[in-house]
Amino acid sequence: MMAKQSIDPLTKRQLAATSVLKAAPTWEPFRGPTGKLLFRVPGSRPGTTYTVCATSCTCPDAYLRHSICKHRRAVAAYLTAVKAFLAHRRQYRKDRAHDG
Ligand SMILES: [Zn+2]
Repeated sequence: MMAKQSIDPLTKRQLAATSVLKAAPTWEPFRGPTGKLLFRVPGSRPGTTYTVCATSCTCPDAYLRHSICKHRRAVAAYLTAVKAFLAHRRQYRKDRAHDG
């Protein structure tokens, strides 16, 4: 049996955020009252969902510990990746148009 390695809390959170991020297609996007893009993200306990954006989350971890929870980390990473993707696509299309 392998000895349990101790992982520092930040690494643990990053790993947790990565597993939340992998489920991004199950997040339900919607617009908040101010028009801001929000996501309903399933919690680890069945039947729970949290309302998440890059700067806030309704989960207990965010509320009780005032920390950047795994959901916020995952949504922030997702939005960064989507922006990078869209920028790539724009550039690709521009280059293609020039090659005409
Ligand atoms: Zn959260």
